[in-house]
Amino acid sequence: MARRFLIAGNWKMNMTAAAGAQLIADLKAQFDCGMKCANTEGPEVLVCPPFTTIAAVVKAAEGTVLNVGAQNIHWAEKGAFTGEISGEMLKETGINYVIIGHSERRQYFGETDETVAKRVQAALASGLKVVLCVGETLAQRESNITDEVIALQVKTDLGAVAADQMANVVIAYEPVWAIGTGKVATDEQAEEVHKNIRALLAKMYGADVAAATRILYGGSMNAKNCAGLLAQPDIDGGLIGGAALKPVDFATIIKTAKDIAK
Ligand code: PEP
Repeated sequence: MARRFLIAGNWKMNMTAAAGAQLIADLKAQFDCGMKCANTEGPEVLVCPPFTTIAAVVKAAEGTVLNVGAQNIHWAEKGAFTGEISGEMLKETGINYVIIGHSERRQYFGETDETVAKRVQAALASGLKVVLCVGETLAQRESNITDEVIALQVKTDLGAVAADQMANVVIAYEPVWAIGTGKVATDEQAEEVHKNIRALLAKMYGADVAAATRILYGGSMNAKNCAGLLAQPDIDGGLIGGAALKPVDFATIIKTAKDIAK
């Protein structure tokens, strides 16, 4: 089954509103049609700025094929959750995606698979598509427990997600040791994990859902190494941090995905 590539940028805590709007303008300038053509053969493209930059980026992306997403969501509809943000609030900004369970959230902000699962539910209930991040640490890889770690994350994080909701879920495999480190997983290492995730999805949801679900690779993907990764049969795009802040590099990854399109 053909899966459309998704090239997603995670801006993390970078880019003020003004800088974000400029980055979108610079990105549009990398494409002949200014990212305005509805090119169904190209990859789907997503950028995820910080909350306070979302409005400026949604405006800058108006009339283009760009999707805009957030980097987190709280599970409650409203209430005493200082510093958090609800699905309704995010939807109101005009975005359609949200990243959930990024390793930096798990590592620095105490996110667990249980809270990740609640956030996934809230996002889907709000009508947002989810980019669910999973990945092993270096110690876990060196202990040869990568598959067990990823399987536990996928099973718990998607615990309450029904098969018919999986059309709105994208999984991002992001080995923690490769994020922001410049150490990219080899094409083979990444493909092996992606293949195992797809096999797990087949057990959980059946072959059709497994074949249709997009699994992105994330971890130091850049303009130079993206071609090898994207050419792998089970890699359906990238979740990109550092290189997504550089318009020429991010555009190169988008164009590479278009050339490889499965
Ligand atoms: C990320 O933030 O999800 C990521 C993969 O970052 P980087 O590309 O910088 O490693």
